[in-house]
Amino acid sequence: MITDNVKKILSELPQSVELVAAAKARTIDEVQQAVSAGVKIIGENYVQEAQIAYVVIGISAKWHFIGSLQRNKAKKAALIFDMIETVDSFETASELDKHCAKINKVIPILIEINSAKEAQKSGVLPENAEALIRKISTLGNVKVSGLMTMGPVSGDPENSRPYFMETKKIFDSIKSLNVPNVEMKHLSMGMSNSYKIALQEGANIVRIGTGIFGERKNEK
Ligand SMILES: *Cc1c(COP(=O)(O)O)cnc(C)c1O
Repeated sequence: MITDNVKKILSELPQSVELVAAAKARTIDEVQQAVSAGVKIIGENYVQEAQIAYVVIGISAKWHFIGSLQRNKAKKAALIFDMIETVDSFETASELDKHCAKINKVIPILIEINSAKEAQKSGVLPENAEALIRKISTLGNVKVSGLMTMGPVSGDPENSRPYFMETKKIFDSIKSLNVPNVEMKHLSMGMSNSYKIALQEGANIVRIGTGIFGERKNEK
């Protein structure tokens, strides 16, 4: 089933769009099946889960962090991940920068936008994105490479459209500023129920869990 789901999704995605398999609460075997079926990027919400899966799957896939990064996990995250999609503060960027400097790595990061402006949500508010990106751009071992957003979590996926549009607008406007050491290349928007809408609004990374692995049973 996982194999069929991956093949179907990959066959429908435009060439220019990257699929991230959101692996939270899945077994290593399930994640391995997705990789065997053609998934090239695994999205992890928890550093510890990623560490365990990394031992088995390793560099046969790329690893994106898509969860909320705690400070004390930045060192391990710097080692494993090829991209951190959820940076929303200078402190987090700076912590990653410090650990990446020690291992001679420049890690691509996306800035998470709280496009729905939900108080409990992670992400930087749209109006603060430019200032944050300018500040992070001074760090040598992280490279801002685009934006990520979640949009509203529940309800009709069509409700997400305005937030995807808003995030694309920020993406284009930051791109036009040509900030040194900032590349607006990746726009990560859309999950299982909303990725088709996200694609229409300019996403080039989609993060899909349920659509690949089925409903989550042991939601954390
Ligand atoms: C779980 C998760 C996804 C995937 O969600 P599904 O609805 O299962 O496709 C995407 N992005 C993030 C940040 C997630 O935590």
